[in-house]
Amino acid sequence: MLAADAIRSAEIIVAFTGAGISVESGIPPFRGAGGLWERWDPSFLDIRSFYAQPQRSWQLIWEIFYDFFGKAKPNPAHEVLAAMERAGFLHAVITQNIDSLHQDAGSHVVHEYHGSCRLLTCTRCGRREGSAIKRLGNLPPTCIACGGLLKPDFVFFGEGIPEPAATDASRAVQRCNLLLVIGTSGEVMPACSLPYVAKERGATIVELNPERTVYTDTITDIFLHGSAGAMMTELGELLEVV
Ligand code: NAD
Repeated sequence: MLAADAIRSAEIIVAFTGAGISVESGIPPFRGAGGLWERWDPSFLDIRSFYAQPQRSWQLIWEIFYDFFGKAKPNPAHEVLAAMERAGFLHAVITQNIDSLHQDAGSHVVHEYHGSCRLLTCTRCGRREGSAIKRLGNLPPTCIACGGLLKPDFVFFGEGIPEPAATDASRAVQRCNLLLVIGTSGEVMPACSLPYVAKERGATIVELNPERTVYTDTITDIFLHGSAGAMMTELGELLEVV
């Protein structure tokens, strides 16, 4: 496989992942057939709607991102990336996902571009705390220090990208020689600009997706056509990390 050769000869390799890598863990993407937005109206994830109707937003947030996502386990694609990090092939994962499945699989350097479900932030005093299930019993949850409304620590529509993830991700794509782009449509701004930055800096772009995307005919050098689980397992075997 051409991609395995490219990975063996690249010095600094970074992975950039999207919702597609978690599909085989049972988490559908947002858009498209079978996507989350077929079942739920996305307006509850708008930051203004969250503040206007926290009880309603939190009911849906709980249902989707804690009850439903909480049952998901890493799949072979997450596991191969973690094994590549252990074997010294992979410097970092930049993920748009908020499900923490990279960390559950054993990856250590993970830049969560859109935050995650793992922490809650107090919208009044800024205190952050773990999203322990029992704290979410009464919705909307409130801060134990000041009583303010708690918000999941992921990016809502209308919010900016959190630091240090934005800076760390930007640095990582600027210094990598090879970017492994897995399971993203490349349509969500500003995350979708990261592969273009890597390409401008001379990185080889290896893209893995069952569908062609905006990257495929523009910046992709090697296209792995298929599902993340199968293709990453094959890659992991060729690299002898699994
Ligand atoms: P997207 O929904 O725009 O695109 C998903 C991509 O995954 C598509 O290109 C699709 O062809 C591909 N895909 C589908 N099945 C796949 C498989 N088995 N293996 C590999 N690829 C597969 O996702 P996006 O580009 O990540 O943007 C959506 C936004 O919503 C992002 O911020 C994303 O993180 C967020 N989101 C996160 C989760 C999660 O945390 N798991 C779930 C849904 C959406």
